[in-house]
Amino acid sequence: MTDIYFSEEHEMFRTSLQKFLEKEVKPHVDKWEESGSIDRFIWNRFGEMGYFGLPYPEAYGGHELDLFYTVILLEELQKVNSGGFAAAIWAHTYLAMTHLNAEGNHHIKQEYLAPSITGEKIGCLAVSEPFGGSDVAGMRSTAARHGETYILNGSKTFITNGYYCDYMVVAAKTSPEIGNKGISMFVVDRSLKGVSVSKLDKLGWRAS
Ligand SMILES: Cc1cc2nc3c(=O)[nH]c(=O)nc-3n(C[C@H](O)[C@H](O)[C@H](O)COP(=O)(O)OP(=O)(O)OC[C@H]3O[C@@H](n4cnc5c(N)ncnc54)[C@H](O)[C@@H]3O)c2cc1C
Repeated sequence: MTDIYFSEEHEMFRTSLQKFLEKEVKPHVDKWEESGSIDRFIWNRFGEMGYFGLPYPEAYGGHELDLFYTVILLEELQKVNSGGFAAAIWAHTYLAMTHLNAEGNHHIKQEYLAPSITGEKIGCLAVSEPFGGSDVAGMRSTAARHGETYILNGSKTFITNGYYCDYMVVAAKTSPEIGNKGISMFVVDRSLKGVSVSKLDKLGWRAS
């Protein structure tokens, strides 16, 4: 019977992805979960294979493929027996990069989206704070405009890829007086002065 969601091309993609994960990811996941860090080479391999660019514009190196390729990537990632590895990949590809693509200007896309697609830069999405995660409207981080720049103040916690990233997509309040309507997103380069991170020794998902 023909599948109503996945075409023959989708299934060919799934088969080749399964082979890639079996050969190039699975042999390493126990080590990554144990050490709490994912080797950088696999990010480059995902980039070379085109897996980071499935839904993104060709202009920035993506493939503009339909949603079901993304569904397949997410389904197969969950089968490698490392929640931490799967989370690291989808936090980069779909939490951080979705914002770059939807809200970033051409400069941001060139600086961050294109190298995220090749695997040269790793991103994260920083929303949750030590004071609470579910209550996003209650976040305390602020961003105040000073001429052409913003000054961000605040802290975030439990951020997948936060320790290893090259950039962070950060939520902060630009108009605290209007609550959840006053939150803006910023791209913060990890190398910027004033940015500091520390690794959490978690019970699970340790690889991320
Ligand atoms: C491994 C891991 C990875 C994560 N990665 C990211 C990431 O990449 N980026 C990011 O921004 N965040 C990330 N988070 C944070 C995650 O989004 C938060 O943990 C989540 O939003 C819950 O927030 P909290 O832990 O502060 O719990 P709280 O918000 O304090 O909630 C505690 C409990 O109270 C319940 N609760 C809260 N509010 C209400 C309410 N109004 N009514 C009823 N019940 C309520 C909740 O359901 C929960 O059971 C990650 C967390 C983990 C554990």
